[in-house]
Amino acid sequence: MSEPIKTLCPYCGVGCGLEVLPPAQSGKATNRDDQGNLLWSVRGDRSHPSSKGKVCIKGGTIAESLDKDRLKYPMMRDSLDQEFRRVSWDDALSRIVNRIQEVRHTRGANGICMYGSGQFQTEDYYIAQKLLKGCLGTNNFDANSRLCMSSAVAGYIQSFGSDGPPACYDDLELTDCAFLIGTNTAECHPIVYNRLRMHHKKNRKVKMIVVDPRETKTAKDADLHLAIQPGTDMDLLNGIAHLLLRWGEIDSFFIDECTQGFSNFVQVIQQYPPELVARRCGIRMDHLEEAARYWAESDNVLSLWSMGVNQSSEGTAKVRTIINLHLMTGNIGNPGSGPFSLTGQPNAMGGREAGGLSHILPGYRAVKNPNHRAELERAWQLPEGSINPTPGRDAWSMITGLETGDVGLLWVAATNPAVSMPDLVRTKKALLKSPFTIVQDAYYPMETASYAHVVLPAAQWGEKTGTMTNSERVVTLCSKFREAPGEARPDWEIFAEVGRRLGFTEEFDFANSAQVYQEFVRLTKDRPCDMSGLSHGRLRQQGSLQWPCPLEESQNNQLESIALTCDTQRNISQNDEESKGLFSNLFRHKDETLPGKRLYTDGRFNTPDGRAKFSAFHSKGLAEPADPAYPFVLTTGRLYEHWHTMTRTGRIAKIMKKQSQPFLEIHPKDAAKLGVEEEMMLEVRSRRGMARFPVRITKAIVPGTVFVPMHWGALWTDNGEANLLTHPEACPISLEPELKACAVHLTPI
Ligand code: SF4
Repeated sequence: MSEPIKTLCPYCGVGCGLEVLPPAQSGKATNRDDQGNLLWSVRGDRSHPSSKGKVCIKGGTIAESLDKDRLKYPMMRDSLDQEFRRVSWDDALSRIVNRIQEVRHTRGANGICMYGSGQFQTEDYYIAQKLLKGCLGTNNFDANSRLCMSSAVAGYIQSFGSDGPPACYDDLELTDCAFLIGTNTAECHPIVYNRLRMHHKKNRKVKMIVVDPRETKTAKDADLHLAIQPGTDMDLLNGIAHLLLRWGEIDSFFIDECTQGFSNFVQVIQQYPPELVARRCGIRMDHLEEAARYWAESDNVLSLWSMGVNQSSEGTAKVRTIINLHLMTGNIGNPGSGPFSLTGQPNAMGGREAGGLSHILPGYRAVKNPNHRAELERAWQLPEGSINPTPGRDAWSMITGLETGDVGLLWVAATNPAVSMPDLVRTKKALLKSPFTIVQDAYYPMETASYAHVVLPAAQWGEKTGTMTNSERVVTLCSKFREAPGEARPDWEIFAEVGRRLGFTEEFDFANSAQVYQEFVRLTKDRPCDMSGLSHGRLRQQGSLQWPCPLEESQNNQLESIALTCDTQRNISQNDEESKGLFSNLFRHKDETLPGKRLYTDGRFNTPDGRAKFSAFHSKGLAEPADPAYPFVLTTGRLYEHWHTMTRTGRIAKIMKKQSQPFLEIHPKDAAKLGVEEEMMLEVRSRRGMARFPVRITKAIVPGTVFVPMHWGALWTDNGEANLLTHPEACPISLEPELKACAVHLTPI
């Protein structure tokens, strides 16, 4: 039997390591799909630093999705009312290139948009950036990370001077207080959660606070569950800050030496006495005080969050308000502490590193920064001024650009906006108006392909070699272990071929993805996400590694240097003896024997003056609160079994057996008022659309709020699409829509 192939689970940002064996070598006669076909064998990789051999149901069943409904050949049609016809790659690419040239000529490069995905490998992301932002001169590349992590990105950049989660998974087992807000970690990041839950169970003194309007599986395990009213997160956070300040439980040394803006922040939080906060949040005052006491009495607080914070019309402010708590208590840079966003997609982090949002460029550079643009133009050997100085269209403004006719070509790759965008009635209408849409995906049918003129078959997980970065900045090489079906190709190869056909032959002269990666990591040298010491070869030889991982130290190529090379200890300037003395005592629990995996361990941040910035925000609440016409707040979320729009998990029998249809959770008091019973159907209307769901009555949700899962699209349900109801109001900074809450009216049917 040959050695198992090491790779990464392609579902969530936990980034669990997997080992894969071909069907004939799996040794399991029972490892078959529902039609009796032998499957690849998939198991957890015990050597992977992030997951240590554990996987959840999604990772464990992924092999079942590899051969179902695969898109094998390019297909085209002239208009959306026609059937697709199979065409050659040459025909499909010629049509795409002609169309790109036509749009450049008639509308300018900004008439072209690409909407990509955290399912991309970093190499796919990078080539897409070079094509769009470098060669074509438009920043109209956005990814589904806009709907997921862009508030965390904006919060980190504004507070710390650059993106990048400061903490790491080892902190889950080193913290003495885990503060989980807007995250159902048990279901959405299960392997991360297992580590935290075991630590919490084993150590009575370790506290866990969960802030969520629902009593999720995560909340059930908490010492303290704060079931706040939707949209009151910032009130709660400011209220905790108020109490910490009142009790003197702040780290004055850290505040003085490492931050700025504290006095403005104090003026804001003084306006949040506990009586007011408890009333606004709909929680007991002693519970609020208990939460603040846990913060005060803990040496190391670790905050975890995901969509419940990010998907908000004030998402960036919420992220910064979480960070404020860490800054005022000095809970950052120490083992077991820090603000820690849990990434949704498997490679959303890699996408951020490669510049995969419309306002950023590879290597944590900013579109608006002239020096950053110039650096890339030089590296890409493009004429000065080639990169557009204006951020491109974000995901939602691609939709509105179709409405106004400003977008002449939309290229969607590895994502499914006909299910995941807000206000699907409007989104689908806009997609119908698109003059030319390319959908590049591994699967067919899928909802967005219904709106395409050209569909291109993409190789997926296991069918191409490339890298992915998980939530804790660990980079894993995902090796190809099987051939892609039919004529499917890796995403980066498709983008590069289009680039060459557009005349950029040298720019896209890559023999393989390892060469693409080498070009990319060179661009990260001396940037906060320095990965210049990484390569496919090194990752293959040494396994997954965490950034920063600069080139200089790794050149030694000595195994014993790995820990040093790729740790994240940012050394204080050797010349700055005063600083060294000052900061050597700064961190109360710094343990030199622990692997250095954190950012900002020296108390220095990536801002011009090295100080982290406090923010001072009052909450505006929900963009669309309940009112007499729409008296309930609808909140949406994810289930343990399914992944996003079910393109894979909808095709896995074991998963569909567990969760076959969407549902609506409602509190017994609300159910009684409406006269509905378990399993009866409810019609849910918002200002934008209507959907129907069978009812699940549960005390796990607060009265006045209802919950539906977001996974089901038109391919899997006749009337249970959650995003028919949601609205596109977005955070003005991160442009992340408030997919988590809208006002609805409920009618029994
Ligand atoms: Fe995959 Fe996430 Fe499950 Fe790990 S926790 S196996 S990365 S879906």
